Amino acid sequence: MTSEPIKTGGKVEPLRKTRPCPECGKPSSREHYPFCSDRCRTLDLSRWLNGSYAIPVSEDQTKADGTED
Ligand SMILES: [Zn+2]
Repeated sequence: MTSEPIKTGGKVEPLRKTRPCPECGKPSSREHYPFCSDRCRTLDLSRWLNGSYAIPVSEDQTKADGTED
């Protein structure tokens, strides 16, 4: 039988670079990427919902709708 030798034990490069969880700084898990757990994900989401995140909105204050006088 011709079985191809499977190299194991070599360097396994991750598909994604693991980056720390933005909530707690722990290594993120693949399931909850980029967070480490569902808890941190929920935390982040709730923060969004609470409006703590300042979303940069480039809204022109000079709205040209001053036609009603
Ligand atoms: Zn976390």
